[in-house]
Amino acid sequence: MYNSIVIGSGIAGSVVARQLAEKGGHKVLVVEKRDHIGGNCYDRLDAYGILVHEYGPHIFHTNMEDVFAYLSRFTEWTLYENGHQVVADVNGSLIPIPFNLNTLHCVYDSSMADELEKKLIHAYGKGSSVAIMKLRENPDPQIQAIAQYVYENIFLQYTMKQWGQTPEEIDPAVTGRVPVLISYDNRYFQDKYQGVPKNGYTELFTRMLDHENISVQTGTDAKEILDFQDHAILLGGQAFTGNVIFTGALDELYDCRYGRLPYRSLRFEFAHFAQEDFQNGHSVVNYTVSEEFTRITEFKHLTRQKDAEGTTIIREYPFAYTGAPGEIPYYAIMNAENEAQYQKYKQLTKQYANMYLLGRLAEYQYYNIDAMTKKALDLADQLTGC
Ligand code: UDP
Repeated sequence: MYNSIVIGSGIAGSVVARQLAEKGGHKVLVVEKRDHIGGNCYDRLDAYGILVHEYGPHIFHTNMEDVFAYLSRFTEWTLYENGHQVVADVNGSLIPIPFNLNTLHCVYDSSMADELEKKLIHAYGKGSSVAIMKLRENPDPQIQAIAQYVYENIFLQYTMKQWGQTPEEIDPAVTGRVPVLISYDNRYFQDKYQGVPKNGYTELFTRMLDHENISVQTGTDAKEILDFQDHAILLGGQAFTGNVIFTGALDELYDCRYGRLPYRSLRFEFAHFAQEDFQNGHSVVNYTVSEEFTRITEFKHLTRQKDAEGTTIIREYPFAYTGAPGEIPYYAIMNAENEAQYQKYKQLTKQYANMYLLGRLAEYQYYNIDAMTKKALDLADQLTGC
């Protein structure tokens, strides 16, 4: 009776489900193992009435007009007029991140900063952005000194905490997400649209999945209803020939037969304070040279919630995912060895002509919300022939 079964209700699963139901007229079953929809974007009111992101801060940002328009069908937005801004706590001083010309003037005296600014502009052009690992290759001793400052005070220890590896050891695309900006731009992202859904992500997902052709079954592991046999996926003992869109961890689907794919996980520590503000108006403070946690997010500044008393924060403590009950794989650790292991799992999927892999977990990739939305829209187009 279903044309498509979607496993997982995060951004990947929910967008593809909605599109298959609406554009393709498919009867869609969404199977979600947690007791709620929305994947890691899920948010909820805490005991103090403050909207918190259960699985860490999720800020939407995009330059893709089509993605913004699409998601705007399901939510209004709290857009940040001056973009999302982050500071780093470096030995008690707060400096803007990404490192930019404002940061340069925070850390050097003004005549030195003026001189270095000219050098950076001459070398890279005003308004450009340079990955830290590229900046370190610049032969000019003064630029090297800046690069060394940024490397030591912003990237090295944060990256060690987040990944358990140095910036040299991880995929350069990861540190490249936060380049050095040769401009006076304090925004963390350079995208046109930046913000959060006005009434939260959970409402966005609820509206997206609210369609007559979509049934959602939470609290259900896909393997409870689907039987992945050799060359066929069975539903209720019969071969299911519709589409199966899988957004979960691929190694776990195949009982980790080639070993566990490495992921980084996070332990979150929430704290509430009976005071108006905890970090001076800053929504996110990165701890780049101290502490065991990577960052503190203060939700009311992130969501601009006005009607709550007190304030709630979240601290993020990274660790290596082991697969123990209750742990969540958040970040794929992308390198050649892990990719080769992932490809072995992907190869197993080829036996199912009707199975599609989508999402951070299933594709073993580091996607932002907007890129994920785009991929899900594209897959739905492919499957509906639109
Ligand atoms: N990073 C860092 N210091 C910072 C911010 C980022 O070293 O203050 C590095 C770190 O390796 C991190 C990566 O840049 O994992 C990407 O940061 P981003 O903020 O995009 O990570 P996310 O929000 O996705 O966890």
